[in-house]
Amino acid sequence: MSEQIRVRFAPSPTGPFHIGGARSALFNWLLARKYPNGKFVLRIEDTDRVRSSKESEENIKESLKWLGLDWDEGVDVGGDYGPYHQMERLDIYKKYAQQLLDEGKAYYCYCTEEEIAAERKALMAENKMPIYQGHCRHLTAEQIEAYKAEGRKPTIRFRTPENKTVEFEDMVRGHMQFDSNGVGDFVIVKADGIPVYNFAVVIDDALMKISHVIRAEEHLSNTPRQVVLYDALGFNVPTFAHISLILGKDHSKMSKRHGATSVEQYKNLGYLPEAIVNFLALLGWAPQNEQEIFSIDELVKAFSMDHVAKNPAVFDIDKLNWLNAQY
Ligand code: GLU
Ligand code: ZN
Repeated sequence: MSEQIRVRFAPSPTGPFHIGGARSALFNWLLARKYPNGKFVLRIEDTDRVRSSKESEENIKESLKWLGLDWDEGVDVGGDYGPYHQMERLDIYKKYAQQLLDEGKAYYCYCTEEEIAAERKALMAENKMPIYQGHCRHLTAEQIEAYKAEGRKPTIRFRTPENKTVEFEDMVRGHMQFDSNGVGDFVIVKADGIPVYNFAVVIDDALMKISHVIRAEEHLSNTPRQVVLYDALGFNVPTFAHISLILGKDHSKMSKRHGATSVEQYKNLGYLPEAIVNFLALLGWAPQNEQEIFSIDELVKAFSMDHVAKNPAVFDIDKLNWLNAQY
C-alpha cells in the first residue's frame, strides 16, 4: 500500500463497550501500526442525543487505553489529544448540507414522520420497496409556505441519482454492487438540524482523510448511501472492509445470554488485556501459520486484512481462558 494508511474507530457512546467494537478498533489499530506513517483516529459519534452519554464515552476510552489501543490525533486538550466529537462539528455538516441544497443535490422535505410511516406501510402492503416516493422533490413556493404556516420543520433529504449502479471495493467481501433505485432519497439532516449517521460519517471520513474504513458487517447496507454521498460531495471513496459478526458458541448472535459481552466485564473478571487482544485478533483473522500466542508486536507484524474471513467468527470462551492462562 503506497498511500498513507489512515484509519479510524468511530463508536457511538450509547452503552457498554462491546467486545465486537473492541475487535473493530483493534483491526483498525493493527493496520495503522503496521505501516510506518499509519494513523489511528478516534471519533466519538455522539449525534444520538437521547442514547449518548459521557459515561459511555469514558468507558470506551478507558477500555481502549486498557487494551493498549492508543489513538494519534484529535482535538488538542492541553497537550494531550482528546477524540473528535461529532457534536462539536455541526457547523461543518451544516456547510456541506447547504452546498448540496445549493447544487440541487438535496432538498427540504416537509413530510411528517407519520406521513412517511404511512407511505412505507402502503408500499409494503403492495410488496414494493419502502423507499421515499419523492413527494417534496418539486414543491411549489405556495406549498412550502403552506407547510411552514402549519409549523412543519423540514428535514434535508438527499436526491439519490436514479438508475445508477453504486459500486465499491470491500477488502473482505470483494467488489460490491447495488442499484441506486433501491437506495432512494434519504434524510441527511433531521428537523432539529442534527445530521444523520450516514451524512456525518462521510464528511468526517473524507475530511479526516481516512483511507480504509474497517467496521462491522451490520453497516454494509449503509455503505451504498455513503458512496452516493461521497460522489455528490466530490470526495474520494475510501476502501471499505466489513468484518463479520461475532457469534456465540451456539452460532446465534453474541449477546448477554452468552456471558460477558463488554470489555469492562472481562477486565473485572480478571482477564489480562494481552490475552483479550490476542483473542480478539484471532476472531475473524487467521494467521498464516500455526501460531496462537502473539505479543502485540507480533500481531502488528503478522496482521493483514487479506486473511480476514467473510464468514462469522465464533466466540470461544475456552480459547480465551486458555490464552489468558498463557500470559
Ligand atoms: N458510530 C457507528 C457505530 O458505532 C460507526 C460505524 C462506522 O464505523 O462507520 O456503529
Ligand atoms: Zn417530503
